[in-house]
This record gives sequence, C-alpha cells and structure tokens, in this order.
Amino acid sequence: MNGDRRRVLVVEDEASIAEAMAARLRAEGFAVDIASDGPGAVAAATLDPPDLVVLDVMLPGFDGIEVCRRIQAERPVPVLMVTARDDETDVLVGLGVGADDYLTKPFSIRELAARVHALLRRVERAGQLGVDPAPGDPSASTTSTPATEPPLRLGDVSIDRVERRVVRGDREVHLTPTEFELLVYLAGRPRAVLSRDQLLGGVWGWPGDVTTRTVDSHVKSLRRKLGSELIRTVHGVGYALQVPR
Ligand code: CA
Repeated sequence: MNGDRRRVLVVEDEASIAEAMAARLRAEGFAVDIASDGPGAVAAATLDPPDLVVLDVMLPGFDGIEVCRRIQAERPVPVLMVTARDDETDVLVGLGVGADDYLTKPFSIRELAARVHALLRRVERAGQLGVDPAPGDPSASTTSTPATEPPLRLGDVSIDRVERRVVRGDREVHLTPTEFELLVYLAGRPRAVLSRDQLLGGVWGWPGDVTTRTVDSHVKSLRRKLGSELIRTVHGVGYALQVPR
C-alpha cells in the first residue's frame, strides 16, 4: 500500500451525521470522502475507488441498495450498510443485497469505527491467508496462498483463490468479499457439517458482534449466485458444502 491511507467513502445525506462519521474516521487515520446522494456515491466510488463504503440506506436520488448494486458491479468492495431500524436490516438481509455488515441507527461513532476496522481486518486477512488447509490435504498451504495454487473446482464452479475470482460454467460470478471468504472457508472443508458459530468464528472472526442471521444471509446469497445445491442445510446444526461426485 506504499504508506497510502486506506480510503473510506461515507454515503449519508444528513450532513451533520456524515461529518461526525468522517471526522472520527479521519482521526483513526483513514482518508474519507463523503457523498450525500445515490448518484454522487456511485460517481465518487468510480472516481476514487474506496477500500470500504459506509452506506446509508435512505438516500436521495436512488437508495443505498441500488448504490450497493452499482458499486459492487464495478469491483468487490466491502460495504457497511447503515439502516434506520432492526427490522429494516432483517429485510435487507433477506434480500441478500450484498452488504458485508449492518449497523442500525442510532449508533455510537465509536461503534462505527470498530465495525470499519473489523471489516477491513476481515477482508485483508482473507486476502493474505486464502483458504485454511483441510486436514489431510497435502496440497493445502499453511500460511499463504501460493501464486501457483490451482483453482478449486466444485462441479461447474471454479474458485481462483489467487485472483479471487469465481466462475460458474463459462460465466464469471461476482461475489462480495465476505461471500468469497465464506465460500473458500466452506470449500476448504468439503462435506464437513459446520455450525453457524463455527462459520462466524472462522469467517467473521468476531462472533460477539454479528449474529447467526448474518451467516444465513450470506449462505442465501451464495446459493442464489452459484446454485442452491452447492450448500446443504443440516437442520439444527448448520451448513455443509456439497461436492458433486
Ligand atoms: Ca438518510
């Protein structure tokens, strides 16, 4: 990163809230841009690509869901979605809109900063570590993903851990950073039944702050994008990756 500060785009139409968020994030060492409506957010993300986006749902122009869709179409970028109520979060989680985490108003600025740091840590750790080795897999790496690591193949789904790309059939599938990390985590333990708590610990790394609902929403997104047969629900336990025979 050559000493460059990490860039956060704050998208919020209430100027006083936007300024408070930006001030705290700048104090934490981030470079911060502010956008106050949907079109402005997409333009800012295109002009100066951020490392993370803090995205209010209710915006003038078009809403945060549409912003998330458009900026994620360009390239994967972690999104922390800000909602007005818990039940709004439930709806968005159900829709699988592609945000990596949710924060409900009102929240403390301290909480916001903690979430931003945690999400960036998670994404960066995923980029550095790649997949954990599966027990007994001699090709598995222990500390890093070598540049020569071959793609993982699961039926017609191919996962390139070096370039962080996923192809289904002959079509590239866009995954958010968290969806990618969850897929790689599951793929490193094929057929193993993993509890939601295990997935929270392994993928999210801070189980105290996210709920099992987050796991469910990301599994739902992966099924929608990669086929419902890829991940099996084990009722009362958790999930398992299906390996086509
Ligand atoms: Ca708003």
